[in-house]
Amino acid sequence: MKKSLSKKKIEKTYQMISNYYDKHLKKRGVKIPKLIGTKGFTKDALILVYLAQGYPKTKKVSKSELTEFIREFYSTVNDVQQARHLGAQKGWFIAAGGRDNRDVVLRRGEYKLITLEKPYPAFHGHRVEETSNWESLKAEYGYRCVTCGSQEGKPNIHYSNTITKLQKSHKDPNKPLGTSNIIPQCQKCNRADRNNWVYNETGRVIKLANSIVIKRSDKEIRWKVYKLLYEEFKGKNPLK
Ligand SMILES: [Zn+2]
Repeated sequence: MKKSLSKKKIEKTYQMISNYYDKHLKKRGVKIPKLIGTKGFTKDALILVYLAQGYPKTKKVSKSELTEFIREFYSTVNDVQQARHLGAQKGWFIAAGGRDNRDVVLRRGEYKLITLEKPYPAFHGHRVEETSNWESLKAEYGYRCVTCGSQEGKPNIHYSNTITKLQKSHKDPNKPLGTSNIIPQCQKCNRADRNNWVYNETGRVIKLANSIVIKRSDKEIRWKVYKLLYEEFKGKNPLK
């Protein structure tokens, strides 16, 4: 089947979105979906790309149109909720019909990307806190990385050539970077792979933030997880 958007077009649009994101939305705590996941393009990224076509002159898009589009990549999908979640939970300014019609007139089940320069209006309190709070938070932690203990301005404990710089890290990478979700980590501990984990206030890993970790685990553990979830969800087929 011919896809309605070429791979190249998707990549290009995603790049455009990323540029706006870096400039306007990142600092406001909006979350950008990864373009590529384990099964190819992620559904969130596809929806965002689809809605961003022709930006800034975006179109109203119905949920059934989005569903058809996603089905080109995920044939078993029948209810696409991503557009709503991208707006209300991840902070993208996507208006939804039947919810907020102050920016544009939309029917129920219709969506429109309003702008890539501001977060969704109801998405607030997720801004990274003022510098003074950050300073006092670092002081609370003795100006040390919560995970490895390296001290700000001194050589990293494990990498003596690197001078420690403390960064605001998420405890839970799936939640916005609000006051209660910040811990100080050095630049070595605050790396991309930490998005797989949820940390507590003492910098210890307390749970998974990304199911990919299961895939990497030993078969025995995967079997135990499978058993546990099979029981929890009573053998329900996740594709239905
Ligand atoms: Zn560290």
